[in-house]
Amino acid sequence: MGRGHPECPERLDAIEDRLLASGVGDLLDRREAPLASLADLELAHAHLHVAAMRGLSEEVLEQQAAGGIDHLHIDPDTVMSPHTLNAALRAAGAAVAATDAVIAGELENAFCAVRPPGHHACHDRAMGFCVFNNVAVAARHALERHGLERVAVVDFDVHHGNGTEDILAGDERVLMVGLFQHPFYPYTGERPWADNMVNVPVPAYTKGMAIREMVEQAWLPRLEAFKPEMIFVSAGFDAHRDDDLGQLGLVEADYTWLTWQIRQVAQRHAKGRIVSCLEGGYNLGALGRSVEAHVRALADL
Ligand SMILES: [Zn+2]
Repeated sequence: MGRGHPECPERLDAIEDRLLASGVGDLLDRREAPLASLADLELAHAHLHVAAMRGLSEEVLEQQAAGGIDHLHIDPDTVMSPHTLNAALRAAGAAVAATDAVIAGELENAFCAVRPPGHHACHDRAMGFCVFNNVAVAARHALERHGLERVAVVDFDVHHGNGTEDILAGDERVLMVGLFQHPFYPYTGERPWADNMVNVPVPAYTKGMAIREMVEQAWLPRLEAFKPEMIFVSAGFDAHRDDDLGQLGLVEADYTWLTWQIRQVAQRHAKGRIVSCLEGGYNLGALGRSVEAHVRALADL
């Protein structure tokens, strides 16, 4: 995304370092992320959006080859570099491959350590560091290609997952539950766009215990009633107390608790099937520790 941008490659290094130092990394089944197919991307995105991203990427490469600047702005926060399209295709491809592996029963659940994130990417546009909506693509893949009838999306990033809501609002096969700081970027979500969206706007400076109560009251009864056959998680860790991009007060123990709640629903209704994808999380230390907590809870370590 360019020098000084919070959505930086060091985020994945911080996760890798933490998994290595804690020993958790040695206990995981690791898989490379394939490129998403265009057909899968178009389960969640307009053909024109996918074509526009490919066109923009070619333009950047041509510009670079001609000695010009090596990036183009999609919006004030979101940049296309010569490597962005490939990374975005692998991020969505990871979510799809994880979905295939979990549905095949090779894995009970999976965490995708991917960049760029996806939950702001709308049906027909990129925004907010996001190019393609990894979770929405994977959720639609599970419904369309594997014939699942009900999937849930859980989003605990500090920002509202407006892109996921844009794509999945009104799709009765999906229940999305989210919590996000409000009012805050992208200034949406207070009023959900359809009945299959459960949005919990949270005031700045709310701490973990209060957020756990909101989850117990607003999310869990709806998830129980919906009985999802699989759960997708937009796992952003920017609601952490130490993350300067948001002003919420979650800590590692809250991510453990949240993950356990999701797992319990998954175990009751979905054969344990969860695919979790990294979204935000910009304080490198807090990100590494929070992902470790999340992965430990997913893997029962
Ligand atoms: Zn975020």
